[in-house]
Amino acid sequence: MGLLPKPFLTLLCYDAAIWAALLTVIGVTVGGDPVWLAAIGIGGVGFTTWAAWFATRTHLATPSEPPSEASAAAEPAPDESEAPAGLTEPEPEQHADSYQVLEAMPLAVLVVDRRRDIRWANDRMRHLLGEAVTGRSLMSVLRYPPLIDALDQVMGGQNTEVAGAPTAIEGVETPIGPDRLLIADLKRLDADRILVALKDASAAHRLERLRSDFIANVSHELKTPIATLMGFIETLRGPAKGDLEAHERFLGIMHEQASRMSRLVADLLSLSRIELNEHARPSGGVDLGEVVGRVANGLSLRAAERNMKIELPAGSMGRAIGDADELTQVFQNLIDNAIKYGRPGTSITVSAARIVDPIEIKAHLPGLRRAKAMIAVAVADRGEGIAREHIPRLTERFYRVDAARSRDLGGTGLGLAIVKHVVNRHRGSLEIESTPGHGSVFTVYLPAEEAAADLRAAS
Ligand code: ADP
Repeated sequence: MGLLPKPFLTLLCYDAAIWAALLTVIGVTVGGDPVWLAAIGIGGVGFTTWAAWFATRTHLATPSEPPSEASAAAEPAPDESEAPAGLTEPEPEQHADSYQVLEAMPLAVLVVDRRRDIRWANDRMRHLLGEAVTGRSLMSVLRYPPLIDALDQVMGGQNTEVAGAPTAIEGVETPIGPDRLLIADLKRLDADRILVALKDASAAHRLERLRSDFIANVSHELKTPIATLMGFIETLRGPAKGDLEAHERFLGIMHEQASRMSRLVADLLSLSRIELNEHARPSGGVDLGEVVGRVANGLSLRAAERNMKIELPAGSMGRAIGDADELTQVFQNLIDNAIKYGRPGTSITVSAARIVDPIEIKAHLPGLRRAKAMIAVAVADRGEGIAREHIPRLTERFYRVDAARSRDLGGTGLGLAIVKHVVNRHRGSLEIESTPGHGSVFTVYLPAEEAAADLRAAS
């Protein structure tokens, strides 16, 4: 019995009842040999049941035509023709089979019913939305009106134009927090169930936002100098034509604005070049004393303009594994900031230390588990310092504590972003400590060159 499918048995019962009724009527009204009538009955039941069962099977096995929208929406009874293979039968054990398949799929899926209650969710979905989602209303889990609207449309809900109800809607963008975005695909399985697949598009969404913020920032940074240049060009051509003194003054301002644009473009180019190479760790050896000494030399005039001094360590600073040009840019940006934001008349102190304590190394060079030594170079200024809440964001592109002040001082807002990317590429780290009112210390941790030799020896 267990071998026979249930629809076959149902058909057999119906058929037997119809043949029995038919032959009884014939026997009573026309008459005839009961043995012959019984034989005809048994043959008839057998043939018609088989034929009906065969026809039903063939119908279910052939790819179904999409139901007409009107009939799909107007007829709430289970419509097998539009359910996907594996979920055609309403029997619970059939569902269990289908759910097993859905569990194995590399996609977060759940099934909701007409009341929007979540009847089932696979492992990935529970991971995404929380273990206890099954049994809860989808509205309480993903409270986003466009998703609920789409669900109602696919279910052919009261608010939907029944004749036009779609059986599937794809790509419903469902934000779940400022930085997370899910994409939902909905498909009606039968009159009471909708399959909802969710894809986590947060990473792509974040990248897209970063990209558009970045373009907006660059445009904003370029807008002011361009407008200033255009204004002065017009003035020089018109009202100030022939006024030599005005020419001198205006050309000075124009030069300043053009330099600002040029600095911005140079910083953007360095940033993109460093980002492009960020996965490839530099392998050369760099004498940090030489690099920092050159930078300090180059900036000594600027420091002197503000009556400041750059103090360097007396002895050797050691050698790091790195790229000399990129590390020059790191110390150029840090010492330049110390001059910009330090109090006039104070000193900037650069110090260096070689560290071999494995716990400290692990804390500051997490990407280099086997490094045996590192060098910490600190640039300390005596300035106004930075309030604690700004510190974690300082290395974001264009992040400034005081944008107008930074621009006045010739800043692009990209200096520390460049520092962070270079340090990342070197598998080092940057630490910022600051005491408002007293000053700030920017410390760069880099793998010491000896560590490379040890590593080579170890491998
Ligand atoms: P900027 O070109 O504006 O200096 P940076 O990326 O170098 O851009 O620095 C970002 C912001 O960090 C600065 O605008 C400033 O607000 C703050 N900052 C950087 N260095 C210091 C410092 N030594 N002291 C105080 N604030 C600093």
